[in-house]
Amino acid sequence: MMKKKSYPKKKKHGDVIKAQMAFKIEYNNRCYVCHKKFGRGFAFHHLWYLQKGEVHYKDYSSSKKYNEALSKLIIKNPKRFLLLCRPHHHYIEWGRNLTRKSPDKFSRFIDAVNKTKT
Ligand SMILES: [Zn+2]
Repeated sequence: MMKKKSYPKKKKHGDVIKAQMAFKIEYNNRCYVCHKKFGRGFAFHHLWYLQKGEVHYKDYSSSKKYNEALSKLIIKNPKRFLLLCRPHHHYIEWGRNLTRKSPDKFSRFIDAVNKTKT
């Protein structure tokens, strides 16, 4: 009989901090858009950046260090962030990018969504 291998789900320290932040009342442990429960791939999306002292992923050597630094800013002002699942974070980044680069294209996109009655 084959013995079933078990893979313990060991969480990285950085992920633990992120999970703790997700539990804050402002985020309700769910994606802001679809209400999916916090899990792998979730991100804290910045609604606006600080002039000084902002935390950027590229400035940190590990996601653990990034999450530690970010958690301090989340605690300071949770309203500056949205908790999003991976796809919704991606869509929002896409939409935001488009509103900046080609606002007409984004308007037509929204128009097409709203016009769709299927
Ligand atoms: Zn979502």
